[in-house]
Amino acid sequence: MAASARPSPITRPGRQSADGLPGRSEGMTCGSCGRRTRIDRLPRGWKACGTQVYCPLCRRRRFRIRSITMVVAEPIRAEWEQFRLALEETWRRSAPLFLTAQAWQLTTVGGRHVARVFVGNQWWALRLDDSQWSGGRRAAYEKIAASQAATPEFLVFRRPTYEKGMRYRPSRELRPYEIACKAVAWLPREQPDQANPKVRS
Ligand SMILES: [Zn+2]
Repeated sequence: MAASARPSPITRPGRQSADGLPGRSEGMTCGSCGRRTRIDRLPRGWKACGTQVYCPLCRRRRFRIRSITMVVAEPIRAEWEQFRLALEETWRRSAPLFLTAQAWQLTTVGGRHVARVFVGNQWWALRLDDSQWSGGRRAAYEKIAASQAATPEFLVFRRPTYEKGMRYRPSRELRPYEIACKAVAWLPREQPDQANPKVRS
């Protein structure tokens, strides 16, 4: 029959797909369980980490979301007023201010924790108030600083505070508030046998 000669509607030429290797042009493969996506960009819930991508299930097994809020103690080599005014410009448009991965950086300078942020067309170095940080928070800071790409969210915002409890004062005229940065990051969970090597013995 002539009909059998009609080309079948196969859009994918013979391609090895059972090996679980990422077919770069045809979806992505979870680096842990091998589940595949149908599309080339990451579907909702999937996560890229370095050269691997993970499906939502494996992502939750391997990472946990951690958010740290860091109060700004003072701008370095700049007046509070300058930084505050630069921020006010952006706050008029949106509050809080979400920064892209290119517009912020967490560093440690001489043992102090310093956030660099690009606001109002220039970089600012902000000394963070780390006086009461726990060991866990310091460790999270280091991890976020080391792999900025895995931090999907970084923002600068105003936090109202009570006059009495206030230590840093961006402005003497305005109602009391502090300026804080917040990083929301996916951090690798420690593998159970690494975290507690003797638990099972
Ligand atoms: Zn998976």
